[in-house]
Parts: sequence; structure tokens; C-alpha cells
Amino acid sequence: MNHTDKSKELMALAAEVTPGGVHSPGRAFKSVGGTPRFIERGDGAWLYDVDGNKYVDFCCSWGPLILGHGDPEVVNAVKDQIDRGMTFGASTEHEYNLASFITERVEPVESIRFVSSGTEAVMSAIRLARGFTGRDLILKFEGCYHGHSDHLLVSAGSGLVTFGQPASAGVPEAITSQTAVLPLDDEDALETFFAEYGDKLAAVVIEGIPANNGLLIQRHEYMRLLRALTEKHGALLILDEVITGFRVGMGGAAAYYGIRPDLITYGKIIGGGMPVGAFGGRAEIMNQLSPLGPVYQAGTLSGNPVAMVAGLTTLKKLADGGIHARLEEKNRKFVSSIVSRLSNSTVNIAGVASIFWIVFQKELPRTAAGISTDGISHYNRMHEQILDRGVYLPPSGYEVCFVSAAHTDEMLEHTADLLVETIGREAHAWA
Ligand SMILES: *Cc1c(COP(=O)(O)O)cnc(C)c1O
Repeated sequence: MNHTDKSKELMALAAEVTPGGVHSPGRAFKSVGGTPRFIERGDGAWLYDVDGNKYVDFCCSWGPLILGHGDPEVVNAVKDQIDRGMTFGASTEHEYNLASFITERVEPVESIRFVSSGTEAVMSAIRLARGFTGRDLILKFEGCYHGHSDHLLVSAGSGLVTFGQPASAGVPEAITSQTAVLPLDDEDALETFFAEYGDKLAAVVIEGIPANNGLLIQRHEYMRLLRALTEKHGALLILDEVITGFRVGMGGAAAYYGIRPDLITYGKIIGGGMPVGAFGGRAEIMNQLSPLGPVYQAGTLSGNPVAMVAGLTTLKKLADGGIHARLEEKNRKFVSSIVSRLSNSTVNIAGVASIFWIVFQKELPRTAAGISTDGISHYNRMHEQILDRGVYLPPSGYEVCFVSAAHTDEMLEHTADLLVETIGREAHAWA
């Protein structure tokens, strides 16, 4: 067992001044139990905690760190900018540089605006879609996460389509009543919904590849039908690429599926580890934003220069380096090495690009309802054991793992062995 005395002590102190001791709930390890590790530093694919333990990191700050911790070029760009100033509340050329870099490479994004988080990006994109279409209703999908703004904290009910059931205390039903929820992967449900509500719909928001409630890889035909139906009914398609943007290749999930969304939201990777978000798309729509148009949106730290240089340096490396192809190959090899050795057990791993998701069920689900809750509890039980063996997986069975450019073949082989043993033991105990 790892010594975790210092982490425990810090957690107790933190809990005195912060709800649950954490500033984002997943960090409290409530699903998996065990001691949340306080991190002292990261280096490449390694995390070091305050008790001197080290871990191969597959959480990668929940997605942003595609180059791993402390990439020297990113760190130097950030240091250089910090020397010049951290924020001015006035424009810098860095915002233009990152904006033009993205608009040149992602065809559907003709114009873009930066904000400070993924939540803010999706929230603003929805306001913009409502302002542009003059409609209020939005549609989201069960099993997709889009940040914690009020109108997206909605649970799915028992019917095929449900409206307005707040998923959090403090969210008024008056707000969520304008959000419809459908299951993923169901063409009939889409057709039925659009026939009845399509002409009232401002926007559909969907994750590029749903990766916040398991990895629910959607079929291309389904995504294309969604694009066709939104277009037919004059509703905007908002593709939430906060995870998939620059993760699933330079063109993200839009290119992966071969669809052209009206708006795309970003976060995570485009900030290179600094807090950032963005939304962009058709210029005709984006020009409805203030100061040009009537849709208000603003931010004191939006387009923060330190975040801009960290993001741009990261994206430039991704564009030049063939990194995506190498990551995909590494991830494919890693996943198949584990899955092939566990083929006799009730374990599978979903993988796409440099994302993987461990499930204690044979069939890979494409909907939230298809996720085995028993399977999730097996993951959760396994988590502390694998953590003790030096592998840092996200602290919930619903969360996906990331492979970064800093994960070497050697590390992955070693980790695959550990995972096969630990997962195998848990799956065996269950059978
Ligand atoms: C992480 C995430 C968000 C929220 O981003 P924050 O920066 O945490 O606010 C929104 N949408 C998706 C798809 C995400 O993965």
C-alpha cells in the first residue's frame, strides 16, 4: 500500500475550508473510495503526489494534456508570456494567432470567440443559437455532458423524449422545460422528435464523441441523420468538441463523421493546460454576437494571453508532428493487448483516437442506458488497487482515459500488464 498520510492530512484541512475539500466534485474520489491524492508535480506521463508516490497518469487533467505534463515548448511559451504580463483586458495578437490557426484548419469554424471554460463555451453557443433562430427549445442527449450551465443540467426521464427535469438542486424547471432529452443511437426517436418539435427547435447540442459518461461512439449514419434533420428544420447543430477538438485529429469529431456543424465548442486541449474555452462556426451566426449583434457575451479573462500561447504552442505541435497518428496507433496496440488477454472475462475496452474506456461488460454500449451499473461498480472497486500499483486512472467508471504523447511504448506495455492482472482479478471475483 502507498503511504498517503500527507494527502489524507491535506484533504482533512481542505475540507474545513472548501465543500468536500475539492473544487470540482470528481476529485473527491466519492465513487471509488480511497484517498484522493494531492499532486505535487507532473512530468511527461508521470504524476507525483505529496507523499512521494508516482503514477502513470491516464487522467491527463481530464483531457487537456495531450502532450503530457510540462511539455518544454509549452512551458517556455507560457513563461515568456508571463514575463510580459498575464492579462490586460485589451486585445493581444495571441488571440488572433490562435483564432486564425483554428479557423484555417477547421473548415466549419469561420469565426471564433474565446472564453474561459467549456461550460461557458456551450452556454454561450446556446444563447447564440437561440438569438440567431429566435427559438427557445434545445435538444440534448442522455449520456452527454456539456458543462454545468442551468439549461443543460437536465436528466433523462422514462419516456422516449422528456422535458425539463433538473439534474441538480438549484436549477429552475422554468429553465430546463426548454431542454428536451433523447437517448443516443436511435434514428426513430430523432425522426419522431423532429416531426413534432423540429420547427420550434433552436439547436441540438451533442458531444463530438460522447466521452463523459463512458465512451459512447456513435454511428456515422446517426450523426449524418442528425445533421440532415437539423438542417431541414432550421435548427442549429452545435457539436460539443470540448474533449474531441484536436484530440480526434485536427478536424475533430466533425471531420471524423464527415459532418459540418453550424457551431463547434472547444475547451481542454486548445488551452494547452490553461483554463480556456471557445465557440465558433458560421460567420453569419457568430456575427450576431456583441459588439456586432444583439446576443450579449463577454469575459474579463476571455482570450487570456497566457492561455492563448499555451494553446497555440500545443496545437502547432499537433499540426506539425504526426502526433495524432502515432497516438492512435499506440492506443490501439495498448487496448488490443489488454483486451486480447482478457478475452475470457467480462471486460472490454472502447477506444478511439487516444481515448480509451474500461468496461466490465462484453458488449460496448452506444447509449447511456446500455452501460452496466454493476460493471461501473467493478471498475470503482478496482480503482484503488491499480492506483496502489502506480497507475492513475480517472476516479469513476464513467470517465474515460487518455494516452498522451509522453506515454512511451515501454510504459504502456508495463501498464497493460498491471491492468490485465488487476482487472482480471476483479472480473474473476465477479464471475
Ligand atoms: C469538459 C467538458 C465540458 C465542460 O468544460 P469545463 O471546462 O469543465 O467547464 C463541456 N463539454 C464537454 C464535452 C466536456 O468534455
